Amino acid sequence: MAEHRDIVIAGGGPVGAALALGLRASGLSVTLIEARVPGTVVDDTRTIALAYGSRLILERLGVWPELASETTPIHRISISQQRSFGRTELSADEANVAALGYVTGYAALQRALVGALERTAVRVLAGCTVLAVRGDANGAVVSIDASGTREELATRLAAIADGGAQLDIAHVRTRDYRQSALVCDVVSEQLHQNRAFERFTPDGPIALLPSARGWSLVWTVQPERAQQLATLDEAEFCRRLHAGFGSAAGVFTAAGRRQVFPLALKVATRPVAPRTLLIGNAAQTLHPVAGQGFNLGLRDAWELARAILARGERDPGGSELLNEYLSQRRLDRIATILFTDTLIRLFCKDIPLANGARGLGLAAFGAIPAAKNFLARRMMFGARG
Ligand SMILES: Cc1cc2nc3c(=O)[nH]c(=O)nc-3n(C[C@H](O)[C@H](O)[C@H](O)COP(=O)(O)OP(=O)(O)OC[C@H]3O[C@@H](n4cnc5c(N)ncnc54)[C@H](O)[C@@H]3O)c2cc1C
Repeated sequence: MAEHRDIVIAGGGPVGAALALGLRASGLSVTLIEARVPGTVVDDTRTIALAYGSRLILERLGVWPELASETTPIHRISISQQRSFGRTELSADEANVAALGYVTGYAALQRALVGALERTAVRVLAGCTVLAVRGDANGAVVSIDASGTREELATRLAAIADGGAQLDIAHVRTRDYRQSALVCDVVSEQLHQNRAFERFTPDGPIALLPSARGWSLVWTVQPERAQQLATLDEAEFCRRLHAGFGSAAGVFTAAGRRQVFPLALKVATRPVAPRTLLIGNAAQTLHPVAGQGFNLGLRDAWELARAILARGERDPGGSELLNEYLSQRRLDRIATILFTDTLIRLFCKDIPLANGARGLGLAAFGAIPAAKNFLARRMMFGARG
């Protein structure tokens, strides 16, 4: 017979783990299922720019004290466009906050979340894969592969946080950006001084984030070019980066191990089914421009946990709660999807006629305090800022 749990979370990446932590004091029985085998090192060199609002959530989840020493604060963000005069700069002083955001590693974030989870009553089934989720008005059944044995968990709510891997319970709209992100650490002649750069080029944006190891690079280009750049020797790679990024950070002198991530926009049109909800990248996978994906997913997890906690120990998977949660998340979700998608479509196609207008747009952001304030708050807090 299937084991019964109040909530089963499918996927223990940063969003699934954050939801489990948000529910730690709920009094509900929570099981988190993660495919990664326990004790394996997370082989992911991507860095995550945490918005200021995410820091506040991670503090409430009890994760921040452990993570803080592995973050680098961002005090200034410079946004510019190749072959254009437009540029704008956001600063923490102007926004009246200690930092606009914080840069950390995906692996460090994951470690801190899992470490915090170990101090809770949440049951973690690591090394188990969720094969399918079926739900109806009475409950959901989650089928898992536990070391070759198929098992079933019955639950009142199945929250899918598998990163959009395969548990597609909803219709998903996809736009292939025909871009890949090449990520690695780089060192330049100049110290970062807590500056971040987002530079739009016709191929895609180049982000340079301050980190403990110098700079963290997210370089977006066509997929074939990304593969080619990944195999260049270090000196040639640094030369090409300088040619693409320009000299704002000085000459690049070293580059670490390179990893390539294909990019697409994937949006579940209605991320819900009976007693089943998609959150984080499972609900929406965004382009990494402006570093919004995890920040949005963390807000999904936090708001879902709050909605469940507000009901006490009553049914966490009823349609009323799920619909309330969805309508409460709608604005933040749609606005953030549109924000990232529009940035890519506006700034990354090499249309000569539009370049002047793009430059003007960035210059206007710099010149008009209200517009700049909007951009800063959107990057720090999402659509609720
Ligand atoms: C290059 C790059 C840079 C980025 N930079 C930023 C940034 O600066 N700021 C930002 O906010 N976002 C950024 N993002 C986005 C961010 O990485 C994602 O939004 C975030 O990782 C989503 O977390 P998640 O937990 O939803 O999914 P994931 O991180 O994909 O985690 C999913 C988890 O589910 C597990 N899983 C999958 N399938 C199953 C299954 N069937 N059964 C059990 N477990 C399963 C996986 O093992 C994994 O642990 C970036 C993305 C990329 C590609």
